[in-house]
Parts: sequence; C-alpha cells; structure tokens
Amino acid sequence: MEQDLVTEAGVRPVSRRAFIEGSLAVVGAAGLQLPLWAQPLGRPVLPLLFGVDYYPDHTPESLWEEDARMIADAGLTNVRIAEFAWGLMEPSEGKFEFGWLKKSCDILNKNKIAIILGTPSAAPPPWLSKKYPEIMEVDEKGQKLHTGGRRFTCPSNKTYRRLSVAIATEMAKNFSDTPGVIGWQIDNEMTLGSSRRCYCDYCQQGFQDWVRTKYGSLDKVNQAWGTVFWSQTYTDFSQIPVPLPSGGDPNPGLALDYDRYQSYANASFIEEQLAVLRKLCPKHFVTTNNVSLLDVIDLREHYAKLDFASLDNYPGFFDMLMRESKVEMPPDAISAMIAMSHDFARCIKRKPFMIMEEQSGKAGQKTFSPQPAPGQVRLWTYQAVAHGAMGVNYFRWDTATFGAEEYWHGMLNHDRSKSPAFEEMKQTVRELKGLGQELLYSEYPAEMALVFDYNSSWAVSIQPQHFALSYMNQVTAWYGSISPNHSGVDFVAPDGDWSAYKIVYAPLAHVITAAQAEKIKSYVQNGGVFVAGFRSGVKNESSQMVKTPLPGLLAELMGTTVEDYVPIYGAKQSVKFAGMLAGWAAECGLWADVLKPNGAEVLGTYTTGSYAGKPAITMNNVGKGKAVYVGADVTGEGLANLLGKFAGMAGVKQSLQAPRGVEVTVRRAGGKEWMFLLNNGAEATSVTVPGGFRDAVSGKAYSEKVELKGFDARVLLAG
Ligand SMILES: [Zn+2]
Repeated sequence: MEQDLVTEAGVRPVSRRAFIEGSLAVVGAAGLQLPLWAQPLGRPVLPLLFGVDYYPDHTPESLWEEDARMIADAGLTNVRIAEFAWGLMEPSEGKFEFGWLKKSCDILNKNKIAIILGTPSAAPPPWLSKKYPEIMEVDEKGQKLHTGGRRFTCPSNKTYRRLSVAIATEMAKNFSDTPGVIGWQIDNEMTLGSSRRCYCDYCQQGFQDWVRTKYGSLDKVNQAWGTVFWSQTYTDFSQIPVPLPSGGDPNPGLALDYDRYQSYANASFIEEQLAVLRKLCPKHFVTTNNVSLLDVIDLREHYAKLDFASLDNYPGFFDMLMRESKVEMPPDAISAMIAMSHDFARCIKRKPFMIMEEQSGKAGQKTFSPQPAPGQVRLWTYQAVAHGAMGVNYFRWDTATFGAEEYWHGMLNHDRSKSPAFEEMKQTVRELKGLGQELLYSEYPAEMALVFDYNSSWAVSIQPQHFALSYMNQVTAWYGSISPNHSGVDFVAPDGDWSAYKIVYAPLAHVITAAQAEKIKSYVQNGGVFVAGFRSGVKNESSQMVKTPLPGLLAELMGTTVEDYVPIYGAKQSVKFAGMLAGWAAECGLWADVLKPNGAEVLGTYTTGSYAGKPAITMNNVGKGKAVYVGADVTGEGLANLLGKFAGMAGVKQSLQAPRGVEVTVRRAGGKEWMFLLNNGAEATSVTVPGGFRDAVSGKAYSEKVELKGFDARVLLAG
C-alpha cells in the first residue's frame, strides 16, 4: 500500500516505498568493569560515543594499522564493525573464522578505539540461501524475494533464526572478553526492506500460532474479526490466511492483527540474539539500528528489552528522494522531518539515543545525494545531540570501491584522501567532547506531547478512507505545526504516562480502547488539554466500527458528536473560527467531520460545502482541563495557528522567537540548561536571546543578539 511520509504544514511528501526501496540507510572506554547500561544515565562510567562505521572486511589488512591510527588521530572514540560480515565469519555452515576480526579488534584497541560489534543476520551468505531457500521473504504480492541483495529473509523462519542465533553465539563466545569491545548492534535496519511485510508459509504458521495464543479460541477470533462477512468463519486455526491478494480486500481485523504479528515476529527475532548476548556478554550494551518513525514495525516493542535506541540519519539522502519525487517543499521541510525522527528516537525508550550511522558526505546507491554544504555535517550532528542523542557514529570510514554502496561516501574518499567534511567532523567531535558527558546524557524537557499510535497508523494504512489520507502525514503535519513553539515535543504512546505534559495532541486517533478513553478522561480532569483530530474514536482494537455516535468512546469527554463525516475530493473547503480563535479562517483539506455539540463550545464553523454553517471545531471543559475536537482537516498555516493557540491556552511557554528554519531546543541536567540554536538554512540570520548567555564551546558572551551563519549551530549556557 503506497503511503506518503509527510505533507502539509511545512513538510511535503515523499513516498514511503521510494524511501524504503532507495534507502540503505539512512569511548575510550575499553576494559570497563561494570555493566555500563545497568547504570542510571548520568553516571560517570558511561562512555563517550563519537565514532565511525568501519569495514576492515572491505579493506586490505595492510591498511588496518593506518586506519586505526587515523581514526584515533581524528579524535574518534569507537567504531562499529562486522554487521554484514557473515560470509567471512562463517564461510561454510558451522565453520567459524574470527581470526581476521580478532586481529582488527586488537589493532583498534591498541589505538584506544572502542568497538561495537554487529551481528550479521541482515546479510546471509550465498551458501546459506542456496542450502536453505525456505528462508527467503515473500512480498505482498506473494512473490519470493531473491538472493543477491540483503534483508531478503523471513523473520519467522526457524532455520534462519537458528543460524542467526548460531553466528551471534559464536561471536559472543569469541568476543565477550576481547579488550576494546563494549557493545553490540543486533542485525541492521529491520524497518527497511524491499517489502513491508513477509507473507510466506512460515509467517502464516507463525501468525496462526500467535492468533491462537492471543484469542484462545476460534469463537473469539471469528467474533473479533467479524468473519461471518464474506463467509470467512474459521473452523480450524490452520485455515487462517495472511493478507495476500485474494480477489477482494482482506478482513480489516485480520489485517491489523497481521501487522501486530509481523511486529512481534521481528521483535522476537531480535530477542533471540539478545538472550545469547545478555548471557555471554553481560558487560556489554546491546542495541539495534533503524530509520526512525517508519511504522513498519512497532519500535517501542522492538527496543523494549534493548539498552537504548539507535537511529540511522541521512538528511541529504532523504533530500534527494524528495527531489526525485518532484514535490514542492519549503526549504525547512527536511530539517523538520529529521527533527521529528530524532524526537521519536529519544521517546522510544524515553532516554538518550545513539546515531549509529550519520551521513558524512554524498550518499546513495545508484545516484548521489547533494553534496553537504560546508557546516551541514556539523549541523546534522548538533541537531541530533540537540534532540537527545548521546553519541554519533559517522557513516562510514573509507568509501567502498566495490559493491552496491560504492557511491555512499565516508570520511575518506575512494583514493583514501580526506573527504570535504573530514576536518569539519573532527572539529565537531572535539567540540562535543568538550561539552562533556553531563550534556550528552542530560534530559530533554518537553511541555507538549504528540501521540503516535501504531494501531491507528496500521488501521488507516489498511483502510485509508480517502486515497490521500495517511496517519503518518497527519502526525507529520501536526508535528510541523507545534514544533516551532520551541517548547519541546515528546512522542507518547496512547498508553504512556502523560502526566508531565500541559497538552497532548492526538491527530487521527482512529483506534481507541476503553482503557485509553478512561486514561484520556483522567488526564483532562486533572488539568490536561487534549486535542484530537478528525476521524478519532472510530474503531475498537479489533478494527471494528464503534456502535455509538462518533467519536465513540471520546464523545462524552468531547461534549460533541459527529453528525456526519465527509471525505473531500474537490476543492478545499473553508472554516471560520470563533471564541478564543476568532478573527481568522483556514482551509480544510481532505476531511470534514460535521459536529453536533452537546455542551462543548464551538470554536470553528464550516463556511463552504453542503455542511456550511455546521460546527467544525469544539472545546469542552472537563474537570480542570479541556478537550478539543478538531473535526476539520485544517491545513498549512491555519493548522499551525490553531494548534499554537491551544498550546498557549495550556500554558506552554514559548521561551523565544526564532526565524523560520531556526530550531531552538534545550537539554537540562544538574541545574544546568544548554540551549541549542540551529540554523537549518543556508543564509545567515540571528536570534535574540533573553538575558546573558555564553557560548558553551567558545566561551563568548552574548547579552542579546546571537548571529548565526548559514548552517550554523551554537550551544549557549545561561550566565
Ligand atoms: Zn515469512
């Protein structure tokens, strides 16, 4: 199913398929005695992680010493290695060869470079796929993937799992006490493959088992999915299909459960290797890397048992994909997308995350992304730290001269000369090391929260209701509208703890459970402001329609019901505002929920269409808080104005004004507060700061105006 990643409010679309298909991706602490990640954040035992992704397997051994010396001279603290080197480590089944990797680790350790090892399950070698062809993934059309690329495997297949655990076990045995090794990355980018899901026979079997465990009986399955429709009543678990093409659309409840199953299958695949690493390498941390905020798998589930989240970040590559899709976008669209992705990564485990791969030059497999402008790689690095990263690995050290990623540039060019951004990366690492661990492991305060709900995202993907409607687009548009407040935005789950936030936004809160409805009610009664978008409360967790007036379980809280709901296929409609929003109007894009208030105040009314004069936006006072229903798909500046007004009403502080394209974020620890100013534009600009500040890097004092060059980044400390 084709979905656009982003739209509206300063952020324009790129096809998720294009992004996925085209994308690869986006410590001087050797010998530590304590299990690092058992420690609370902020303890001094935590290492600095400013490194590079390194491929001794691609490099003649004669260069390993020089590489290690140069990496150390550049000020880098660690490498990540071996995540695609299965064939070298296990050249035939059960025959393991780690001599080369041990030698590489030894050289790196002698140069005080710490090592993150990757388990190689993302790239099974040819002997394996030839001997066990059943491990191949089957795509959404029912076609088997082919060997010769990577990530062509089924997450449910027991043979693939057994062999993945076997190589991880041998690695763990061989490197648990290797000096310099500090942690592990399991697999690589499980969110990115050429198909969104696997639909093979093994996944069907796994799905049937998962359904049996979840529901316990076929009666409950048939009830939950409504299988009487189209004569789909199952009388044996073995009859349950996967949602492959079948002459008509799949049952929505089955399809939603299949999304959940695939997420579970990927998470449990990771956890099998994790169990081995925990047992054999208790001193090491364990993570895995992904491109953040794709809804392919539930990243909260994916990282639940891992130590921290890791993100791969390729702003320039993403820029290229957007240009390729020929959509017009404002100049700050990419930086807003990247900021959102970082905010999501931080909130997966609600603690600092790592950038496992950061773009360091031109990137691409068949074509090059734009050359990063001077300052831009430094800016991307600062942007990550500004949003909660604790460390950054640049991708990659030397640029490959062979293979599918020959055009993916690293810190060294093909001829091993230094890349245009080499000195800039050195400078950035030196600056960030100087800022210290206290900053890198500090908190990211946020007064606003944005709900991201995988159930709603998947349910809307299965049945978009309007061909242009997507959950991801709505979330992106709302993020783009509230982030310029510079008050910090956290992503939260519907079931998460919202008590720290003055306002919680929930665009397209399509699936609402009874427990979630109760929790939202309690949040509002205790003084929170809850803002829901159109098409909220439409479905239960089985993807069945609710049988009460919309917004279903939220209707009483909202003090309004939905009289009618209207997809808009022609020209945009218009909404005029009233009450606290009086004085302006906005456009309504894809959807109009026509409201019938029952105690709520009307804050917006449709002025065009067959429902002209009917309420579009309402607000209800409940306990100490307020519940807002935005029934219209308000677009562009109108949405930013609207959502910003509600933030102001909730008491969200906007500490300072900044020109469009300039991000302001804060990190805080031990009574200190670091303010990041990031100019994502090529033109110089300035920001007026209140009171006295000093530059945390240079020490320069500022009393009022801070000048920012194009692509500049500064960190300020009060006083
Ligand atoms: Zn499969």
